Amino acid sequence: MTFSDLGLSPEVLRAVEESGYAKPTPIQAQAIPVVLMGRDVLGCAQTGTGKTASFTLPMIDILASGRARARMPRSLIIEPTRELATQVSESFERYGQYHKLNMALLIGGESFADQEKKLDRGVDVLIATPGRLIDLFERGKILLSDVKVLVIDEADRMLDMGFIPDVERIVSLLPKIRQTLFFSATMPPEIRRLADAFLMNPKEITVAPPASPAATVTQGMAIVDEMEKREALRRLIRSEDVKNAVIFCNRKKDVDILWKSLAKHGFDAAALHGDMSQPKRTETLERFKANEIRLLVASDVAARGLDIANLSHVFNFDVPIHPEDYVHRIGRTGRAGREGRAFTLATPDDGKFVEAITKLIGKDIPPIVIEGIEPLQFDPEAGRGRRRRGTRSDAKPAAERSARGRKRGQPAPAERSAEPVAEAEAANSADPVRDQPRREARERRKEPGAKPAREASRKQGRGQREHEGEERDEPVIAFGDHTPSFLLRPVRLPAAERKSLAKTGT
Ligand code: AMP
Repeated sequence: MTFSDLGLSPEVLRAVEESGYAKPTPIQAQAIPVVLMGRDVLGCAQTGTGKTASFTLPMIDILASGRARARMPRSLIIEPTRELATQVSESFERYGQYHKLNMALLIGGESFADQEKKLDRGVDVLIATPGRLIDLFERGKILLSDVKVLVIDEADRMLDMGFIPDVERIVSLLPKIRQTLFFSATMPPEIRRLADAFLMNPKEITVAPPASPAATVTQGMAIVDEMEKREALRRLIRSEDVKNAVIFCNRKKDVDILWKSLAKHGFDAAALHGDMSQPKRTETLERFKANEIRLLVASDVAARGLDIANLSHVFNFDVPIHPEDYVHRIGRTGRAGREGRAFTLATPDDGKFVEAITKLIGKDIPPIVIEGIEPLQFDPEAGRGRRRRGTRSDAKPAAERSARGRKRGQPAPAERSAEPVAEAEAANSADPVRDQPRREARERRKEPGAKPAREASRKQGRGQREHEGEERDEPVIAFGDHTPSFLLRPVRLPAAERKSLAKTGT
């Protein structure tokens, strides 16, 4: 099959040809004709499968006739992160170069004035992150009643980041009669429920098992001491022919520490995480894409879905908490049929997390030995009743807990804690702290129909925070001046106990 079999216009075909694509990927071959027919699509596809073009190419042709009115976009694409939104807008520019379509990108961290000016001129395609879109809607700068095509991309990531209530609110503002294209790398029940609510008789397209890394990615894992991870990484990088690599850490804090450490050891590295300002993030990404930086140390949210051509390596400095993140991370390499290499550094405490990953991907990650680094085993006792990254339910001191697998005399590894929610906020807004009351106000105003997802999303967010020890180190808060009424309720004791208390005079 070729692109010209799919029903696309000559202008779009020309742009595709200039992009150098020889033939459509499976998701493109299946989705493009269906989208051109005006049907809804439920696409189960991960990044790297060519899914962006599977919706942008037909959308360009659908939108080619007709004109946009001021502040009334004709199509809307919702993306979970600013980087993904930017990437999709770049695809639109590339594929739509022979059409006269107006596009606006609404993402946090950019000036409202410029975005409003664009909206005033009328846009055919609006690409937005949920928070900024709702902000502009609430300021009366945008009307969504003319949206004919809606794309919800990376729906499972939106769920992870707690954006589903916002997405539900946005969808409630759109016309009921529209075409909806819904993409998700995985289809957990909550995502399936949303798809059922948003789509009408969709064509379901699944292009790869949701949790399978590309076959072109060579994987490997070394179990090393927590305190030797940085040394192990340096040795690994030196031993590999690394053209460019993303190095994933679980915590934003570690992104900074690792980046500085690599830089100190003479590596050409930069950091990317949700706490950085948007201009800095954009600049770093641009430099990395232009091969001006070889190593990008990143957190999951910041790097989600980044499309960096020819990424030779991915390193997991930490084993990801959620097994699906492993697939997403290593999917940054080996894209579009190219070869890629992905290596993971695990510690003896990570057995349970690696087990979850191997269960998900259906095979073991081959062990590797890093020269000069002592290979260790997983500690079978680790993780029993313990909560990852900070909060542990066992009462043993850290030194005792982690002594197994650590060399004698070495200090206990720093406890892990994550800030996934804060990072998700940062991905979607200029200032997460400032935006928090607004987000909460939005939550309160949500329509009743959105309740189940909101609850699930909250529950999910709470679960994630608890799971990842976010509440660690918080002071224990007592009742203060307030005595709960249940404590004041009289209690009837059994007669024998009353007697014995009377005897002792208590
Ligand atoms: P995506 O899954 O949309 O993030 O796309 C992954 C990568 O595949 C991007 O770099 C695209 O430019 C590239 N790509 C998309 N479609 C094709 C195609 N038909 N042939 C080769 N590469 C493609």
